[in-house]
Amino acid sequence: MSDPLYDALKNTRPRSDWLTEVCALADSKWRNHSHGDLPRWKNALAGLAPASHHAKLDCPSPELGLPVTGQERLRSGLMEFHPWRKGPLRLGGLNIDTEWRSDWKWDRVAPHIDLTGHRVLDIGSGNGYFGLRMLGAGAECVIGIDPTVVFVMQWLACRHFSGNVPNYVLPLGVEELPEKPAALDTVFSMGVLYHRKDPHHHLQRLRSLLKSGGTLVLETLVLPKGGEETVLIPESRYARMRNVW
Ligand code: SAH
Repeated sequence: MSDPLYDALKNTRPRSDWLTEVCALADSKWRNHSHGDLPRWKNALAGLAPASHHAKLDCPSPELGLPVTGQERLRSGLMEFHPWRKGPLRLGGLNIDTEWRSDWKWDRVAPHIDLTGHRVLDIGSGNGYFGLRMLGAGAECVIGIDPTVVFVMQWLACRHFSGNVPNYVLPLGVEELPEKPAALDTVFSMGVLYHRKDPHHHLQRLRSLLKSGGTLVLETLVLPKGGEETVLIPESRYARMRNVW
């Protein structure tokens, strides 16, 4: 049975072989995913109160869906998808006070870019918070990728309230993207470079995903006083994060 999750994205124009392949890959990965919590998450998604679709995106806490009655029930339903890392968000009238104030990061980035009419790839998109802000700033379509399944579930919960806005989260890692030309207008890599064991390869990959003259938005940890020869290779956690190279 074909899973229609990424059909709308696949049919986005202009079509490209890259996009068709990405959607097929995402659909197949989603269909065959064996994460132990998936049945619980799918149940929680099915149990969310019916929503009146609505999306106000040009604000720090995007509003998805009109307020529903039974806010306490909504709260416990959405708690099934915790941890809610990126936000803040307002779903069905309920404020989600996420772990991160991603709006602060967006406020630093947004003044420097013009996304009007752009097709964007957001690598390490989490639940798609930034994608919503990108649409609010005029992007035409945002393809987020993130291999962490709970964030895809959070995106689906957001979508339950917003309806079909052109912001997607696909359960893929950057290394799984097809090598074909993607010709994207803008590629975001925020908070990802320092998690890659081979940063040079990541940068090359970012470049190859862009159209000629496209824009890369790269956000990463920096050593403000470091010289060209300065390299930090933390042995365990760095800034409380595992897996920092
Ligand atoms: N871009 C967001 C999130 C950064 S945290 C921000 O700037 O706040 C890093 C994200 O990358 C996490 O959501 C994690 O699940 C995701 N990630 C981990 N491995 C990845 C990979 N191989 N490809 C793409 N994303 C990955």
